[in-house]
Amino acid sequence: MNTKLERNDLCWCGSGRKYKKCHMAFDDKIRLFSEQGHLVPEHEMIKTPEQIQAIKESCKINIAVLDYVSENIRAGMSTEEIDKMVYEKTTQLGGIPAPLGFEGFPKSVCTSINDQVCHGIPSEEDILHEGDIINVDVSTIYHGYFSDSSRMFCIGSVAPEAKKLVDVTKECVDIGIAHVKPWTFLGDMAAVINDHAKINGYSIVREIGGHGVGLQFHEEPWVSYVSEPGTEMLMVPGMIFTIEPMINMGVPDIYVDEANDWTVYTDDGQLSAQWEVTVLVTEDGCEVLCW
Ligand SMILES: [Zn+2]
Repeated sequence: MNTKLERNDLCWCGSGRKYKKCHMAFDDKIRLFSEQGHLVPEHEMIKTPEQIQAIKESCKINIAVLDYVSENIRAGMSTEEIDKMVYEKTTQLGGIPAPLGFEGFPKSVCTSINDQVCHGIPSEEDILHEGDIINVDVSTIYHGYFSDSSRMFCIGSVAPEAKKLVDVTKECVDIGIAHVKPWTFLGDMAAVINDHAKINGYSIVREIGGHGVGLQFHEEPWVSYVSEPGTEMLMVPGMIFTIEPMINMGVPDIYVDEANDWTVYTDDGQLSAQWEVTVLVTEDGCEVLCW
């Protein structure tokens, strides 16, 4: 722990209560895991009720923007048009698209088609065709608080194997959500997601994971989907992070487009799918804040 509070000091969480009546037992419990050699969260990763409420407001916009994309996405549309929709809807609702200008990213949303794994850049030249699968990854800043989620869209009728990849990837996220429990490990969740991908003959991207989110776009912890049970960070109530496995039909290997230094592709040119949710760890499981 990064603070040394006495029993009668005010709690670090801002509740205004004495430490001994607030988070002292909680910190003691975390310390036990730390002493056993586990990776444990810093206080900064544990959101206060006020922060959680503010992040939920940001999430509402993110959901509305993705709903809007869902209602309007169609064959013949360019990914530039998706970018326009995301920018207009987000700003109309009082938010700011978080990707815009983030580390130099030029657009308001990531649009990743077929063998693009993630970080596809919207363009007038990229037209959606019947049979394509596309991930639309939306992130919003609202009053300084961040939200992040993505969905897959099947354009018109797609090949059965593409549809299956999209569906199984969604199942992986649902299984992950069911395995977010306080006082267990991110690796426990990763392992069940990885198992479900594997039994369906798929692989999971290793290099890119999920992340904490809320006060920043990308926070600790790093969230892997290929780790072993009992490894990675301890989950405790108040943590907020994304579940967003990138699942490949073929090999897990990827490369980054040298032309734009952003877009990630599968090495073998086979399809990749991803769904992303933001979850809050609660006392007995988790709450999905954004999907
Ligand atoms: Zn407290």
